[in-house]
Amino acid sequence: MAKYKVVYDRQSCIGAAQCVTVYSKRWCLAKDGKADLKGSKKTNAEWTLEIDEKELAEMKESAAACPVNVIHLFDIKTGKKLI
Ligand code: SF4
Repeated sequence: MAKYKVVYDRQSCIGAAQCVTVYSKRWCLAKDGKADLKGSKKTNAEWTLEIDEKELAEMKESAAACPVNVIHLFDIKTGKKLI
C-alpha cells in the first residue's frame, strides 16, 4: 500500500535533469525541457504520485538532487513532510 506522496511542482522545474540521473524509472525529460514524473496524476499546479516503501530511498535522493527543490515527499498517514 502507498505510504508516501510525491508532490512535484513541474512549473518551477528548470530541466537540470538530476532527478532523471538519480531515478530514471520515474523521471524523464519531456520535449518542453522539463522533467515528467512517470505514472503521476497531473494538475496545472503540481503533479502527484503515491509510492510505497520500496521507492522511498530513490525518490528521496531525486528530491535531494534537484537544484531548485521542486520535488517534495510526504508521509501520507502523518502528513509529515520528509523533504
Ligand atoms: S532535478 Fe529538479 S529541476 Fe532538474 S529536471 Fe528534475 S525536477 Fe526539474
